[in-house]
Amino acid sequence: MKVLIVGAGPTGLTAAVELARRGLLPRIVDRRDRASTLSRAVGVTSRSLELLSHSGVSEKLIAEGIAVEGACIYLNTHLALEFPLHSDRSYFPTVLGLPQDRTEALMAEVLFGMGGEVEYQKELKSLTEDESGVVAQFDDGEENRFDLIIGADGIRSTVREAAGINYPGFDLDEVWSIADVDTGDWPPKRKFTLVKMDSGVIAVAVPLGEGRHRLVASCDNAISAFPMALDIKRVRRKGTFKISVRQAETYSKGRVYLAGDAAHCHSPVGGRGMNLGIADAAELAQRIVEGRLPGYSELRYREDKKVIEVTESGRKIITGQSLKARFEFRALIAAANSIPAVRRKLGQFAVEL
Ligand SMILES: Cc1cc2nc3c(=O)[nH]c(=O)nc-3n(C[C@H](O)[C@H](O)[C@H](O)COP(=O)(O)OP(=O)(O)OC[C@H]3O[C@@H](n4cnc5c(N)ncnc54)[C@H](O)[C@@H]3O)c2cc1C
Repeated sequence: MKVLIVGAGPTGLTAAVELARRGLLPRIVDRRDRASTLSRAVGVTSRSLELLSHSGVSEKLIAEGIAVEGACIYLNTHLALEFPLHSDRSYFPTVLGLPQDRTEALMAEVLFGMGGEVEYQKELKSLTEDESGVVAQFDDGEENRFDLIIGADGIRSTVREAAGINYPGFDLDEVWSIADVDTGDWPPKRKFTLVKMDSGVIAVAVPLGEGRHRLVASCDNAISAFPMALDIKRVRRKGTFKISVRQAETYSKGRVYLAGDAAHCHSPVGGRGMNLGIADAAELAQRIVEGRLPGYSELRYREDKKVIEVTESGRKIITGQSLKARFEFRALIAAANSIPAVRRKLGQFAVEL
């Protein structure tokens, strides 16, 4: 079977590795001129590590990443709640902090070891499908026929558009910001920190490695958003982004299958974007090899929809300024502070989400 994967982000690379380890070496192309250096997703979940363990990718990720041991929540400058991030029931007991460019590089290394490689500077321009296959046209003039195409080409997916699949949803007006910084004593080294201000702004710090953090805030400056002094040694990168909440109406049409951001996007609250893409791709690769493609779209649509809904509720509770949202947030903190089982459950939920 000839399979083309469009996009060598975490989704496309997962699909490639998962196919290759089962003996089906796909072609994988990306329009970038080389591997990405952007650190976008910083949390690899236990479920992703479990899915990637069979190929040997997880072993490499765990060796390089940082285990995030706990979470602390501040209301303005007051430490309101602290709890461990831990689950006994999961493959890895907590969330792994690692910049996305390193996750991708380690996936590509494993793919290379299996005889595969990413073809960079190769952009898919269009697709035409007939009864015997789907013909891909590339920017360098190549035209080639494939049995199946995986669109892992991100939010503005060419594959999705060429297949005529709608991507309904909405775009939020607010601007969010990120900064990748080298740090000293604060924020905490192995803890996830969330600061919620009376203004409604939230600021988050996630450990990315020894002495390195990702800062995210629901305003245009992730560094000045923190009401307390940060111990920043160096700013590696900063920027702003906007959030879209969308999901493709179907993940398959004819011989075209969508996975990752090409199929869904949502807010970074919960840190699930990349991880859902890994889950889509692992499921799709298994079904391709086992000849069980029917049902892929329905299953992953349903699973991703649940996460998008939980993520959206979380975003509204955390950033909400309404009386109800503020009450719910403070009630959750009060309950967790007085009942150890609630603290444990919170930490378990965050690991298993
Ligand atoms: C600021 C920020 C913070 C984030 N934080 C987190 C987090 O903490 N946790 C988390 O899980 N997620 C997070 N995400 C989301 C995460 O980065 C994405 O969900 C993830 O990158 C999606 O992976 P993907 O492989 O599906 O798509 P992408 O990573 O977008 O990769 C798509 C690839 O396709 C290529 N491509 C596109 N069109 C074509 C074409 N026509 N031909 C050839 N190649 C093409 C692109 O060059 C790109 O390399 C964050 C995102 C942002 C922006």
